[in-house]
Amino acid sequence: MTEAVVKEKEKAVIEVSNRLCTGCGICVDVCPAEVLSMVSDNTRVSGLIASIKNLDACTKCMLCEVQCPDFAINVS
Ligand code: SF4
Ligand code: SF4
Repeated sequence: MTEAVVKEKEKAVIEVSNRLCTGCGICVDVCPAEVLSMVSDNTRVSGLIASIKNLDACTKCMLCEVQCPDFAINVS
């Protein structure tokens, strides 16, 4: 009898630094899976901060992390 081993795809963990994010929106623009969106945040000059709207769609391509000019988003 053979045993079926099913490895579940591990969900990404995305962290946006409240301290470092300037709200530029680059991560939202570069994400091919529409995982991210900008939301209002009056504590920053831009009035916006990146947030995660659809974590399940994340493919861990790392584009957002690589393109963020402020090292404010981390994917693992
Ligand atoms: S690219 Fe970086 S600084 Fe710009 S909105 Fe995204 S997380 Fe914030
Ligand atoms: S790792 Fe890729 S798919 Fe996931 S949020 Fe960043 S850009 Fe989008």
